[in-house]
Amino acid sequence: MRIKNFDEDKHILYLVATPIGNLSEMSPRAIEILNSVDVIGCEDTRVSKQLLNNFNISKKLISCHEHNEEQASLELLKYLENGNIAYISDAGYPGISDPGHRLLAKVLDNNYKVSVVSGASAMLNALIGSGLDTTHFYFHGFLASKHSARIHELEELKSKKETLIFYESPHRIGDTLNDLREVFGNRKATLARELTKRFEEYIREDLDYLCNIDISTLKGEMVLIIEGNKNEEIVTEKVLLDYAKKLLSNGINTKTAAKLTAKHFKVSKNDVYDLIIKG
Ligand code: SAM
Repeated sequence: MRIKNFDEDKHILYLVATPIGNLSEMSPRAIEILNSVDVIGCEDTRVSKQLLNNFNISKKLISCHEHNEEQASLELLKYLENGNIAYISDAGYPGISDPGHRLLAKVLDNNYKVSVVSGASAMLNALIGSGLDTTHFYFHGFLASKHSARIHELEELKSKKETLIFYESPHRIGDTLNDLREVFGNRKATLARELTKRFEEYIREDLDYLCNIDISTLKGEMVLIIEGNKNEEIVTEKVLLDYAKKLLSNGINTKTAAKLTAKHFKVSKNDVYDLIIKG
């Protein structure tokens, strides 16, 4: 279906990006759009009220977050019958490691229009500032919080050639760095934190270096940028078995370990399974 958003100024959901720390990055267009719509859906009304007050925007807010997005979307949808609505998350782009996607899906299902208003993005600032290759990149967002699930995810990502981007929080950064080091080996890596804020910092080093930093100095919001896989490994039975054993020692079961090993080295799952069983 071909849709022209601005032929008629009605029935549009604006997904508006908001600053990730520095209020000066709120764009004039974002302010104009938020002032123009009938209602604003938001992740957390307290956070959004504060943001909107800074720009003297006074609008009805409807809370629409991870746990009520289904229901709140229906309420927001009603306003599209005759007018326009906007959605903002707490920071950055809605729908990127933030709610917004289910609302957008409902809006599209109902043949209304969607337009995205550009703004700050933590992952792009971090990637571009990292100095690592930006030709091809892969955004993963947050890794699983459980150790074995995280190892499983990293195993799936290990062979990717693209530069990898992860979001992380300060209380898990130590564990995540150690898991990255364990699964990926040493690679160039950048930790970018407090982007656009007064204490913005880029640590452009490698995983060994990052794993040895005093964690208490890594405060605030952060993004990890990891170099893609540059190795061409020679695959012997020993290489396969060592790889599978590492997975097993991290609590991953035999069948899954065989599957992940096979996927990583692009060999047969049954062959790897037999190797593991033979020991
Ligand atoms: N929707 C946001 C976006 O477009 O980037 C992401 C929201 S997600 C819940 C929050 C995560 O984004 C943080 O844990 C951190 O990894 C990253 N982030 C957000 N603001 C940041 C900043 N100022 N500096 C570094 N990382 C940031």
